[in-house]
Amino acid sequence: ADAARVPALVIGSGYGGSVAALRLAEAGVDVHVVELGMSWDTPGPDGKIFANTTKPDYRSFWLRTRTKQPLSNFLGFPLDKDVPRYTGILDAEDFAGISVYQGRGVGGGSLVNGGMAVTPRRQHFGAVLPSVNPDEMYDVYYPRANAGLGVTNVDPAWWEGTDCYQYARVGRKHAQRSAFPFVFVPNVYDWEYMKQEASGAVPHSALAGEVLYGNNHGKKTLVKTYLARAKATGRVTISPLHRVTSVAPAGGAYTVTMEQLDTTGAVTATKSVTADRVFFAAGSVGTSKLLTKLKATGVLPNLNGEIGKGWGDNGNVMCGRANHLWDPTGKLQSAMPTAGIDNWDAGGAFAEVAPLPTGIETWASFYLSITRNPHRAEFTWNAGAGRVDLSWQTAWKQPSIDAAKTIFDKINAKEGTIYRTDLFGAYKIWGDHLTYHPLGGVVLNKATDNHGRLHGYRGLYVMDGSLIPGNASVNPFVTITALAERNIEAIVTADL
Ligand code: FAD
Repeated sequence: ADAARVPALVIGSGYGGSVAALRLAEAGVDVHVVELGMSWDTPGPDGKIFANTTKPDYRSFWLRTRTKQPLSNFLGFPLDKDVPRYTGILDAEDFAGISVYQGRGVGGGSLVNGGMAVTPRRQHFGAVLPSVNPDEMYDVYYPRANAGLGVTNVDPAWWEGTDCYQYARVGRKHAQRSAFPFVFVPNVYDWEYMKQEASGAVPHSALAGEVLYGNNHGKKTLVKTYLARAKATGRVTISPLHRVTSVAPAGGAYTVTMEQLDTTGAVTATKSVTADRVFFAAGSVGTSKLLTKLKATGVLPNLNGEIGKGWGDNGNVMCGRANHLWDPTGKLQSAMPTAGIDNWDAGGAFAEVAPLPTGIETWASFYLSITRNPHRAEFTWNAGAGRVDLSWQTAWKQPSIDAAKTIFDKINAKEGTIYRTDLFGAYKIWGDHLTYHPLGGVVLNKATDNHGRLHGYRGLYVMDGSLIPGNASVNPFVTITALAERNIEAIVTADL
């Protein structure tokens, strides 16, 4: 980790960082990956690496003394509880108007996400990445990303019969009775493993509700896919529990400064490395915060005025519906979603039929909607407080709520049902305080050229979700991966 000089340094080990590391290494470049979170390879006292969603513990949250669960309440009871401060896996990063949930650890968001691996419909792509040629994406880079990530579809015959997708079949019934298109969505989960979970042959993982705080078995995270291949090249080293704090020009190269953390979050050492090229892949929030600070504090003054702009929440909004007693959603629910309700064209909403894996019958249907929300926020440097602020306002979720209502008001009217008011506290219907899908802040072809090269500095690149201007129309990681595949190929060809 202390090598004086490296040809390529990658900041962050999520989707963008993992793609960059693999493709650079395959091109013969030695790569040093610096990752803020832990490496998540050592079991805790219960013999498991990751904590269960229903029983958060010290492993679950990034440097919090109290959990901040996305669903904060259930049947009137608050769910959050005190935990020891620890470099846990899920960061609920609070800005003034929104909490942004992100994965922390080697593998980034792939450690905590639902594995839904969705390629946007082609006719929507022009609104997602207007400067990118759709032909090359749909012919080459989406297929490459889907293959690299191990994306597959659930076996429909098994899905129809298994207890653990009763909640999704109820979701389908309600969608279809209101004449909404119901679509199956691919996932990175190992379906053969899930079938064996269902038959009792292997330890339960998705069927034990494992998702938000890590998945102990069947999910193909980046650790099992891109990062395994990157390590196998012998050219990639990863330093976990290291936070990059500065990237400064140094005679044609860059001095990268980083802090080493212990598991309480305390800084135990400060180090610097000289890198010929630096790939920012700290995620939409991480990369935007770093570059906003470095521009404002005069470390990288030649970055252009687009840095920090064009940030969106992918229109995320959550809600639950209360079903009739004769319409149970099942006490066994697979934590890996398989389907959604597509009302994007008519109403601006794509609603994932999400699990509510509590282990008991809830008679609830739960949804994470991705909506067309026009609001875009900006990151700015707050010199007095020494931090980066984000201008998002909670009221900006209203277009998302309106879009989601185009689906659920209609379903409720048809079914004679109502919204749940017990999931987010204080009789709130809408989970409008959060996002799982931060996007933008260093937008492609604005803050960078059309392949992620930062304007103003040779050898600085952006590889992650910060390139996508605020909305992907579906869950974003396949698009982040495909865009990274496209950009790194151009960079390897032209710049190395
Ligand atoms: P990330 O994956 O966030 O990786 C960035 C990495 O950089 C992190 O590991 C971080 O710790 C590290 N880092 C940050 N700052 C620094 C620093 N200063 N120094 C060093 N390292 C740093 N998307 C889908 O497509 N389908 C889903 O089903 C889905 N479900 C989700 C569920 C949850 C609960 C969450 C939180 C997200 C979900 N997402 C889903 C979103 C998806 O995980 C993200 O869009 C994706 O991970 C973003 O990829 P990225 O490469 O931009 O950044």
